[in-house]
Amino acid sequence: MTNSLSTQSLHDLNVHDLALLLKNKQVSSVELAEHFLRRSHKHAQLGAYVAVDEATTLAQAQAADQRIAQGNAGALEGVPIAHKDIFVTRDFVTTAGSRMLKGYRSPFDATVVSKLATDGAVTLGKLNCDEFAMGSSNENSAIAPVGQETVTPVRNPWNVERIPGGSSGGSATAVAARLAPAATGTDTGGSIRQPAAFCGITGIKPTYGRASRYGMVAFASSLDQAGPMARSAQDCALLLSSLCGPDLDRDSTSLDMPAEDYSRKLNDSIEGLRIGIPKEFFGEGLADDVRTAIDAALKEYEKLGAKLVPINLPRTALSIPVYYIIAPAEASSNLSRFDGVKFGHRAKNYTDLADMYKKTRAEGFGDEVKRRIMIGTYVLSHGYYDAYYLQAQKIRRMIADDFQNAFKQCDLIAGPVAPTVAWKIGAHKDPLADYLADIFTLPGSLAGLPGMSVPVGFGEGGMPVGMQLLGSYFQEARLLNAAHRFQQATDWHARKPEGF
Ligand code: GLN
Repeated sequence: MTNSLSTQSLHDLNVHDLALLLKNKQVSSVELAEHFLRRSHKHAQLGAYVAVDEATTLAQAQAADQRIAQGNAGALEGVPIAHKDIFVTRDFVTTAGSRMLKGYRSPFDATVVSKLATDGAVTLGKLNCDEFAMGSSNENSAIAPVGQETVTPVRNPWNVERIPGGSSGGSATAVAARLAPAATGTDTGGSIRQPAAFCGITGIKPTYGRASRYGMVAFASSLDQAGPMARSAQDCALLLSSLCGPDLDRDSTSLDMPAEDYSRKLNDSIEGLRIGIPKEFFGEGLADDVRTAIDAALKEYEKLGAKLVPINLPRTALSIPVYYIIAPAEASSNLSRFDGVKFGHRAKNYTDLADMYKKTRAEGFGDEVKRRIMIGTYVLSHGYYDAYYLQAQKIRRMIADDFQNAFKQCDLIAGPVAPTVAWKIGAHKDPLADYLADIFTLPGSLAGLPGMSVPVGFGEGGMPVGMQLLGSYFQEARLLNAAHRFQQATDWHARKPEGF
């Protein structure tokens, strides 16, 4: 490592700069991997990682260093990243946060994982998440983090008494605490955007179908999307270009569109950009501290030349019942594969096949997952299908249409990601409290739109506030451009929690 580099901590550098340093041989991938593994070990009390394997990571880093030496480097060659434990990986166990998959090793890598690896990314390990990505606080994980004996919640580095958000909570904590320069996440109803907001980092969920779902442990297949979580829009653009793209043979909802260079428009002017402000996102339920930070960010956008346009998304409130019918319905079907026969946990004592199924599922699934399976089975059952599931599908279409109407008046939509900042661990005793807090992320998910979270300040207790940006289909580059211009004018995304 050169002297100029040693003055700045490696973990404070962004993916973009790390890739450049690696290519110029100013730092080696092995050095970087060792640095981040050491930090992850040192800050194990945060509970971010659920699997690490030093030998595997270092072997990947060595291979990357070799490719760099041969002048054969990919866009992310040698950059260490970590994956949400919902992506299956050959070299690391995959649990999806569930007892059902404890110790499970997949025979293949998820497409998102292999695409990033093809571009040279090195895997630091697997990150904690809510069980099967169901949750908003990461308190639903059934897996003990690396370095801890028992199941303990992931902690938010801005205040370790608070949740990091969920379901990609481990990813958000790891990136915010500089235990990884970037991470993957998945977003079904907000699981990239909300934890990014709660931990003061940047995350993007692309248009549904843009990233392959192959090898993503399925929650709700018509909603699940993968995306990057990093510290800046610039880094998100780089990672998104790598992980997106068609995978037609393996994912039937993968879109047949070539991968895009999402960095190309980052520096475009946003003069005249019309930002829609949905009235329904700024109602009574929004906490004052979040509102204040968002208002200030919108003023900044006006200074940058954007125009704020009042719009309506009249069915915003309906997105909660609609999502909490459709997502559990699909989950109940997806999770039927965990029956103790093909893979995962199997009960030890049982009398016959039916008893084996019952005991396996009773032991393997946690409370929230069981709740969703029951709701899903109910809304899909004869007699209730029309009353609940079909109605929900119809309203889902109307919610998507509302967005298309709104996009006639504006180019992007801005609002809060969540009604409050991250709450205290254990504060939400009733699962409904979690569901209600999803109100601003669910509409975009139901419509299949791309969305992101950008840090815009701090609220109650010094906790980060995230602003949500939503675009119409395939407007990822425009979202990233708007976020990048904001990040060049402000430094919220560069702030870091004390002690990290
Ligand atoms: N909080 C939402 C839920 O519990 C969203 C989760 C997600 O996006 N994976 O379903």
